[in-house]
Amino acid sequence: MTESRAELGQRGDEDLTDWLVRIPKAELHLHLEGAIPLDAMWELIQKYGGDPSLPSVEALAERFQFRDFPHFLQLWIWKNQFLREYEDFTYMSQAFARCLAQQNIRYAEVFFSPVRFVDEGLEIPRLFESIRAGLSSTPEVEVALIADLVRDYGPDRALGTLRDVNEIKDDGIFGIGLGGGEHNFPPELFPTVYREAREMGFRTTAHAGEAAGPPSVWGAIHELGVERIGHGARSGEDETLLDYLVEHQIPLELCPISNIKTGVIDSIEQHPVRRYFDKGVLLTINTDDPMMFGNSLVDEYRALIEVHGFTKDDVKTLILNAVKASWLSDERKEQLVGEFAAELE
Ligand SMILES: [Zn+2]
Repeated sequence: MTESRAELGQRGDEDLTDWLVRIPKAELHLHLEGAIPLDAMWELIQKYGGDPSLPSVEALAERFQFRDFPHFLQLWIWKNQFLREYEDFTYMSQAFARCLAQQNIRYAEVFFSPVRFVDEGLEIPRLFESIRAGLSSTPEVEVALIADLVRDYGPDRALGTLRDVNEIKDDGIFGIGLGGGEHNFPPELFPTVYREAREMGFRTTAHAGEAAGPPSVWGAIHELGVERIGHGARSGEDETLLDYLVEHQIPLELCPISNIKTGVIDSIEQHPVRRYFDKGVLLTINTDDPMMFGNSLVDEYRALIEVHGFTKDDVKTLILNAVKASWLSDERKEQLVGEFAAELE
């Protein structure tokens, strides 16, 4: 049964939040290093001698308040310096998985960008092993990893990273992705990398249509042959592209609050999520970098309900979309859809 926005409103905001927290959820686009719970990040900073300008976790939260993109990149690099030893990766992954469990996120496909840490002397196999060890401590959350090859390092480096990742893909690394500067490193540079990844058995996604416009999405589809689009928020600037996404049911990993925080879209009211949904695009809703943006999956769905008039049934559809668009085996997917659907009733 479809409930109107007014009916939802009558029961008050707290009821809505409770419901959103309670229901089982899945997420396909979040970056592990952008999703470290603040108290775990705080502990890591203390481990390496602390920072006098950060007297408390609250001050740390304040520092992570998004200002602009250069500041965001600066912060990204700053926090990475507190991930130095393999045990730090286990520690943060453990905290991350616990945080997902608290929100009843049962399944997630999560990006990790090893290349930045390789430059600090760490090795790709041990990085992924350490992360997997941390994730395994919370068996109620199933996490598949996606190796983000980071486009800013160019195609040769991406290929090298891919080959290293391939050696340990049995550690639950389902696929590859491509984050970073969309303007300077377009999809057209990476077809060889994606072809080889497919031959190795990896599933594929690429960030596109976030900073750059529809041509980057077309490039990801035609040059890279991706199965999903990371973000794709700007796809609607080209109606033909939107039609294509609908026709081929290519899932978008939309991250609405991230788009507002990074200034890709001016306000949540102006976000095209409603238009894409009504048109029949296969949408999934995601948080991207919750540590940096201060959002949660509950906040994302709340915004859709309160600002864009999504009903509870719409939210259920979006949650099941995330399972359907996931890279789980058909058998496991069916099982999870059944489990979720029963609990969402
Ligand atoms: Zn992302």
